[in-house]
Amino acid sequence: NLTINEGEILGFLYSKGIKPDGVQTLDKDMVKMICKEHEVEVIDANPVKFEEMAKKKEILDEDDLDKLQERPPVLTIMGHVDHGKTTLLDHIRKSKVAASEAGGITQGIGAYKVMIPVDGKLQPCVFLDTPGHEAFGAMRARGARVTDIAIIVVAADDGIRPQTKEAIAHAKAAGVPIVITINKIDKDGANPERVMQELSSIGLMPEDWGGDVPMVQISALKGENIDDLLETVMLVAELQELKANPDRNAKGTVIEAGLDKSKGPVATFIVQNGTLKRGDVVVCGQAFGKVRALFDDGGKRVDEAGPSIPVQVIGLSNVPIAGDEFEVVTSLDIAREKAEKRAESLWNEHISAKAGDGKVTLSSLASAGSVGKLSGLDLHQLNIIMKVDLQGSIEAIMQALQVLPREKCHFEVPIASYRRSPGSVKSYAEKRGVEIRLYRVIYELIDDVRNAMEGLLEPVE
Ligand code: GDP
Repeated sequence: NLTINEGEILGFLYSKGIKPDGVQTLDKDMVKMICKEHEVEVIDANPVKFEEMAKKKEILDEDDLDKLQERPPVLTIMGHVDHGKTTLLDHIRKSKVAASEAGGITQGIGAYKVMIPVDGKLQPCVFLDTPGHEAFGAMRARGARVTDIAIIVVAADDGIRPQTKEAIAHAKAAGVPIVITINKIDKDGANPERVMQELSSIGLMPEDWGGDVPMVQISALKGENIDDLLETVMLVAELQELKANPDRNAKGTVIEAGLDKSKGPVATFIVQNGTLKRGDVVVCGQAFGKVRALFDDGGKRVDEAGPSIPVQVIGLSNVPIAGDEFEVVTSLDIAREKAEKRAESLWNEHISAKAGDGKVTLSSLASAGSVGKLSGLDLHQLNIIMKVDLQGSIEAIMQALQVLPREKCHFEVPIASYRRSPGSVKSYAEKRGVEIRLYRVIYELIDDVRNAMEGLLEPVE
């Protein structure tokens, strides 16, 4: 039974620069603010943040609870293209990575640790460095799952754009707190107030206006106020009481993976609980193996990595997929078994997704190869359209394809980044007699391409 009438609510919204459209739903923050102004007590009927609990539960076990220690926050910078994410990350990396380590950070592993002064004491935090993946919404959604705080950059001269909204949605869905960074305040045409108004109209009320979303105005280009931003982020982190049990077998998430010419499959793990050690047996997605070597974000060999710490892992059977979860198990047999089970269930998912249409009329890659062979052309050409789910795999696959012998057959691989639904792609492909194959493991793809080039490919059932 609300003692505040509609007119008062509308008046309040107008006073905050929000133009209600009549059907707008007020979010919790807004309701709290209106109630505060009218001295009405708010009782939150749903005080437990379920997403947050679920997220923590997956990572922490019952046994961990009495051995928890603080861990550094893992942060992701998100936002619309050109709003300044890379500039901000670069600035932080250059200014905050210890001088002794700076030289080492040549080739990124997808995340790095920086030290931030808080109350005169240096505190570690970890930045996910994934702007290269920004075209891939899925990766970003996964990024939000390992992320403790989302730093969302909005350019003060441009305001909220589609990717800003998408980033906010990902962070909210993952139950991750948001710190807004209003960037480019040095520019002519910068209008931070307008950005704040836009944000409040979609339910993010600035702290300065009585809400609970911290917003820091910066110039990433000039390095202005970045210390303020980092301090704010660390304060938010402190409130989250981020903890893990370093004294147990590690588990966490793959944030990047690829194939290195000399190292073989490499993957960057973010340890979310426990401590990963050299010699541990890990399983991640369909990949498994004994950890032969660990490298930190500076490219230095390390023996172990504790909670929140990113490490590059060498020794896996094949290349996992960014977003795969990893865990340490007690033996290679168990690891192999788990990896196979995982592969099997993915395959079944794929099959059942295909089931129902039964009439696969695609000419197979093999017959494409043999048509070439029979047609007596000097150069047999195999056309492949490739769709991958993360940037890193394109490089890995292209590298692996480069080593195939080309004397007998030439192949073309246009990288397709299409946004059609899988269904429409499938029917289009069917009409054109193009076969679709799904691979979770690069080596299988390479084998099939090699066999197809030799006309030896077994058709799919
Ligand atoms: P991203 O796509 O979000 O990673 O954006 P970038 O970091 O690549 O920045 C896009 C453009 O905006 C570049 O030309 C930057 O130099 C410029 N930029 C980034 N931050 C600022 C800023 O604080 N002020 C000004 N004036 N330009 C900026």
